[in-house]
Amino acid sequence: MVKEKKLRTPLIAGNWKMNNTRAAAEALVGGLVPLVKDLVDVEVCVCPPFTALDAARKAIGDSGIQLGAQNVFWEEKGAWTSQISPDMLLDAGCKYAIVGHSETRGRFGTVDETLASRLSYFGETDATINVKAKFMLAKGLIPIVCCGETIDERKTGKTDEVISGQIKACLSGISADEIEKLVIAYEPVWAIGTGEVCETAEANRVCRMIRQTVRESFGADAGNGVRILYGGSMNDKNAEDLLEQSEIDGGLVGGAALKAESFGVICKAASFAAWNFYI
Ligand code: PEP
Repeated sequence: MVKEKKLRTPLIAGNWKMNNTRAAAEALVGGLVPLVKDLVDVEVCVCPPFTALDAARKAIGDSGIQLGAQNVFWEEKGAWTSQISPDMLLDAGCKYAIVGHSETRGRFGTVDETLASRLSYFGETDATINVKAKFMLAKGLIPIVCCGETIDERKTGKTDEVISGQIKACLSGISADEIEKLVIAYEPVWAIGTGEVCETAEANRVCRMIRQTVRESFGADAGNGVRILYGGSMNDKNAEDLLEQSEIDGGLVGGAALKAESFGVICKAASFAAWNFYI
């Protein structure tokens, strides 16, 4: 049996959304540390709400788990009520921040119109995501840039057009060197929080299409270097299949990141998937 390490180290990022007080964050990270601290060839990250960042950071200790935030603003400081700057997140111990999640774009995988219109107030767009990503990179914070199609867009055959359009607009004006450092998360909107995971081969195909879009816009090194995660109902049962795919470099995990056991299983599957095995 020959083992060969894949080009990119997988990243498993847990998006806790609006869950967990400080005590719950401590308990969750406390349960996760023994499950992941000895894993090799995988980067593990938790993204708590802002209020639990500090508690999570303390519980992370020297385990090697990384910290991420769920949003960020693109100004340094000043009269921006409610906003959080990259410097503040770096100061809180963050390495990453999620931008462009469909819930903050107001594109939600539900037929519940009330919820969809409520979420549209968050109003994130490709243009604001682009400004955020540029400012974060300038500050040394790594963006996890989300993209994804709605069920209507998929059903009408617009998936590739929508996703490649989002990628080009969100990454516009970023240098090829910086693109290599950032993370893209392909999250079909209809798969988020619904239990309806994207079929493995299709998720891999879309991630390949995203990588090709990056290559065409920023060159081969950027396309080969950028990590592309899959997100949308990934769990401890389906993670292995998804993470074994050649173009999927990890996962952005919502519901299954709220239990140490299920998140730990996903991280373990990613560590295993960091290698190609040949007989
Ligand atoms: C997410 O919120 O980014 C996500 C993928 O959620 P879930 O895993 O619950 O579908």
